[in-house]
Amino acid sequence: MDEGFVKRVVATIRCGVCGRRYEGDNVRILGHRDDLWFLSVYCPACHSHGLVAAVIKEGGPPELVTDLTEEEYAKFNQIAAVDANDVLDIYNFLKEFDGDFSHIFSKEKG
Ligand SMILES: [Zn+2]
Repeated sequence: MDEGFVKRVVATIRCGVCGRRYEGDNVRILGHRDDLWFLSVYCPACHSHGLVAAVIKEGGPPELVTDLTEEEYAKFNQIAAVDANDVLDIYNFLKEFDGDFSHIFSKEKG
């Protein structure tokens, strides 16, 4: 397999520490056995090193494994990804939440 292709695939992965995407220049191929590749990655943003083991196959797009319905998939495909602000919102909500769902739902209706 073309090593440039493998590097491009790994460059779509984000650093586990700071979330920045790896760049092709920061990916070093250690070796592979059939479709299983071992790579060493370096994050230029937070200077952390990592090891990646990945099964990489050439050919068609990867199979989508999901339990979403077609309608749900279409819906979630269009809306923005969850970001830090969304997590903060739910954190703040849960901090105040007393567990009384009936209160929330009756409030939304009226
Ligand atoms: Zn990083």
